[in-house]
Amino acid sequence: MSNKPLREVLCIYPYQVELQKWTAFPPIGLEYIATVTRDFAERVYVIDCRGGEDYRDFITPRTELVLISWNWPLEHDFVSGVIRSIPARITTIVGGRYATQFIDDIFADFPNVDMVVRGEGEEAMREYLARGNPRGVANMSYREDGKVVHNEPIAIKHVADEALDRSLRRMTYNIRAMNTDLGIKIDSISTSRGCPFNCKFCTFSLGPYGVKRPWAARSPESVVDELAEIRAPIVGIVDDNPTVNMNRVEEICDLILERGINKRYVFNARIDIYRRPALLRKMRRAGFFMACIGIESTTDELLKGITKGFTVKKLKEAWKILRKIDFHYHGYFMLGLLGETLEDKMRIAPFAQELGVDTMGIQILRLEQHSPIAQQVEETPGYFVDENGYIISDEFPIRRMRKIRREISRRFYTPGQMWRIASKLWRAEILSNVGFLAGLGKFAGITFCKNLVAMLKPGKRLTHAQKKQAEAQAKAAAEKEKQILSAK
Ligand code: SF4
Repeated sequence: MSNKPLREVLCIYPYQVELQKWTAFPPIGLEYIATVTRDFAERVYVIDCRGGEDYRDFITPRTELVLISWNWPLEHDFVSGVIRSIPARITTIVGGRYATQFIDDIFADFPNVDMVVRGEGEEAMREYLARGNPRGVANMSYREDGKVVHNEPIAIKHVADEALDRSLRRMTYNIRAMNTDLGIKIDSISTSRGCPFNCKFCTFSLGPYGVKRPWAARSPESVVDELAEIRAPIVGIVDDNPTVNMNRVEEICDLILERGINKRYVFNARIDIYRRPALLRKMRRAGFFMACIGIESTTDELLKGITKGFTVKKLKEAWKILRKIDFHYHGYFMLGLLGETLEDKMRIAPFAQELGVDTMGIQILRLEQHSPIAQQVEETPGYFVDENGYIISDEFPIRRMRKIRREISRRFYTPGQMWRIASKLWRAEILSNVGFLAGLGKFAGITFCKNLVAMLKPGKRLTHAQKKQAEAQAKAAAEKEKQILSAK
């Protein structure tokens, strides 16, 4: 007979849509919690609703604890439905980014929620499960005598060397494109937490109540042991900033090379990595192939406004070296920084191309809870926060911002740029992977067939007059878009 205090625990990732169209990584935040819970329960189930399994099939008379990860406002109704459906007899704990932000709403809206874990949950869960009650467990909120008690918030300063228990997974995660499985497995790993920098728009490295999370990292040995266990050939390193200590990165590379682990890694970094070109080459040899780097803006003034810590001159100097290393560079840009003009925005595409960025992600500035940018928004006339948290102005409402973003992407992804991306993926042996090519072929085939069916469908063919009308409409729409982009 087991001496574990709980019989069955159900961990739910309550999203359905995310995985259907594009690649989604495993919910490793929840999986880390499940790994901790495993020591206290006879049986732990992790149900990722994106995989099609019905979590309700796993609620049995033996279920004593349900853990739900609520990270985004997306699919709010579905997530709410999942929480409400958990029987009151079962202890229900909600955690995740969204839950941390809206603790009081969760207690008010869901009478069956017993506790909320704020911020990183492993430590709090371990302590709660060991004690058997939430009293005094830092970063936990719970109900007691009809009231909600918020325990002390603390900054977690370390990170455990423990690897994720992937045997709890009930589905595989593959790269997808427009609903088509490309047949290549992906996985994620967390090797460090926090970030020592203080970019004003970024709240990733802040814990509950805005407490800064000091950077802490796992030992290189534990990271490489876990990498050796992972079966997927592509691994996303989910750390905010895994390259803070480049000596540690070097140790990881040495161990990967020594042990002959052959995978491709996607990682976040700051431009500061340019200072170690020899190590960057070693990283490339060890399988690091895609560097996601925050560039954010094209002017010194805007970079200073967000305390990014570098200038345009420094960016250009850094990229001169980075370009010589055959990484695939994914550049992050923020759109809508306070004081940004239309010219600044439209400079993003040529600037990224000039630097040598391969792909880019453009994010419209949002106000997150505890974001240090809040004060700047308050003090700058003409700016306000819309109902979805976007920081916008009279001159640049959200609709216009989205159009500008589309236009920047259109200007960036030229045929030459696409060729550059394809050749980098080929050199990283991703495009040349047989499974990937087969998946890509399937995707191309399905897209071609869909278009063919649409073309041949009776009644869908346009007459000459209709074609002329459609052309005129497209021209008018393009004109209108041009006007919107160039003026209010
Ligand atoms: S944007 Fe990147 S470098 Fe800046 S604080 Fe956030 S994680 Fe750190």
